[in-house]
Amino acid sequence: MSQEFAALYVVPTPLGHLGDLSLRAMDILRQVAWVAAEDTRHSAPLLRHFGSNARLLPCHQHNEEAAAQQVLARLAAGESVALVVDAGTPAVSDPGAALVARVRAAGFRIVPLPGPCAAVVALSAAGIETSHFLFCGFLPSKAGPRAQALAELADVPYALIFYEAPHRIVDTAVALRAAFGERRRVVLARELTKLYEEFHDCVLADLEQWLLADTDRQRGEFVLIVAGAPPAAADGEGERVLSLLLAEGLPVSQASRLAQAITGASRKALYSAALRMQSGD
Ligand code: SAM
Repeated sequence: MSQEFAALYVVPTPLGHLGDLSLRAMDILRQVAWVAAEDTRHSAPLLRHFGSNARLLPCHQHNEEAAAQQVLARLAAGESVALVVDAGTPAVSDPGAALVARVRAAGFRIVPLPGPCAAVVALSAAGIETSHFLFCGFLPSKAGPRAQALAELADVPYALIFYEAPHRIVDTAVALRAAFGERRRVVLARELTKLYEEFHDCVLADLEQWLLADTDRQRGEFVLIVAGAPPAAADGEGERVLSLLLAEGLPVSQASRLAQAITGASRKALYSAALRMQSGD
């Protein structure tokens, strides 16, 4: 590529199905002098497969600043660089943002290519209302911080997108039910674009059992799409259950938490309703 067009190309790569590399991405990978890759051993066969002879330089979460210096040097020499990660779109729960920021600050062109991203692929086939959605990436791996992160999301009225690894999928199913209630709808997308691609649509009350019923269901890579919280006002059913729990003498916070777990109504709205009920308003 000529010096005039030296740029950093941000190139999404397939999640599993090699046919998902776009023609434009293939073209760029064949033309650039360098490819900055999350894992050079992983990307080398992919580049060979698509006929790219680009040289590789590592760019992962532990060397992104040093990699940025190398990329800037290549761009300054008039050579174009493509940025790739192991699968999907760079900078989405993956390295890339720091490198892009450095390259932009140095005044070089950045050209993003559209392409595979597990969150968007799952969302497109979830069948969940998605006029608004929130990408949450990976939850914290430790139970306490994970519960805290989920508590902060419990009342968000938008579809929530989570990434998850196989060894944590069951724990996450349990944590989601505890935080969002039994009745919240969830769509699990597994092994997207691969041989064992699977979607499962259920409520959070049923997700753990579905996963435990067949260990094959716990294999592979996962995206979870959880429907947004129901409207902020505690609905009739929420308030009915809440008043029963309060009448049994449960404290406000416990009654609100249980009413949310049983009905799926917003915990914040239930808590306000409980305070109102107790004060006799
Ligand atoms: N940058 C990638 C993207 O654009 O989607 C995401 C990389 S992140 C390190 C890896 C996570 O993405 C996996 O743990 C899983 O949650 C999700 N993921 C990647 N490939 C997937 C696939 N084929 N099916 C389902 N989820 C996938």
